[in-house]
Amino acid sequence: MSTKDVPRPPKKVGLAPNLNSGFYGQDIISVSQFTRESLDYIFGIAEEMRAIVKRAGSTDLLKGTVLACLFYEPSTRTSASFIAAMSRLGGTVIPITQGVQFSSVAKGESLPDTIRTLESYADMIVLRHPEVGASEIAARYARKPIINAGDGIGEHPTQALLDLFTIKEELGQIDGLAVAMVGDLKYGRTVHSLTRLLYSYDVELSFVSPEILRLPLDIMNEVRARNLPVRETYDVADVIEIADVLYVTRVQKERFSDLSQYEEVKGCYEITPELMERAKEKMIVMHPLPRVGEIHYAVDDDPRAAYFRQMENGMYIRMALLAAVLGKA
Ligand code: ASP
Repeated sequence: MSTKDVPRPPKKVGLAPNLNSGFYGQDIISVSQFTRESLDYIFGIAEEMRAIVKRAGSTDLLKGTVLACLFYEPSTRTSASFIAAMSRLGGTVIPITQGVQFSSVAKGESLPDTIRTLESYADMIVLRHPEVGASEIAARYARKPIINAGDGIGEHPTQALLDLFTIKEELGQIDGLAVAMVGDLKYGRTVHSLTRLLYSYDVELSFVSPEILRLPLDIMNEVRARNLPVRETYDVADVIEIADVLYVTRVQKERFSDLSQYEEVKGCYEITPELMERAKEKMIVMHPLPRVGEIHYAVDDDPRAAYFRQMENGMYIRMALLAAVLGKA
């Protein structure tokens, strides 16, 4: 039984709900929980959050609430933007983000026991874990909402939300776009989530990777079942002229069991100013970051380089999600 299939009663979040929000008290585990309508709802709140931050820096919407951030894997942007989001909403954070080796996990504590502990202090838990499905398991035990901040090579739903929000903000629409994903499509959880989120739109998808890093077959079958136009290639030159969105990713070294395979593919793509000369005038280059050589630093000055704006959007999207799940959007 999967979390996404089962409509759950709201969990206890300790605030008076705004019942207009379908997200009140819900776990956020997979992008398949989102519809076009609910995405528009979250994007609308994110725009309001950006306006609040630009105008006033912060609000006290979530004053008195506590978020626990539990990260079993490294993170810079996801953890920092959740912490910043909660702070700018007037709430506070229990940050277990600098290595679970300093928590009771290092003493052998199980995930359910750690979750039970944190939920007795916090109103919601953001979890990053190396195993696929960990957030779903945590959500089964938890009385408080769990937000999946990356479960191994599985999903990274909040990243996909900010990715899609960025596409919409930058290009004005999602329908009709040609989206090319480049790099580690096998292990890249952000690619898995964004691809799935795009099923609700009328897009053309291209997947560019070395043979050993191709998109997992189950996701490719889902794409085909939706009859979206799709192409697979290993040459970025095949897509550079047609792409409206070039979504570049890092080869996920930490996921390889055989490091010699990583060595074979690690430098497979680099987006350079020369390559960008062949791209459309109105297109964007995105990257979930960190980059480790996939985008030349000289591309940063190109107005089409959207990855830093994308990263900033992460905070507004996470502010929107926190407010929605806590019933205050
Ligand atoms: N930051 C993203 C993630 O956590 C992408 C990456 O690590 O390459 O999945």
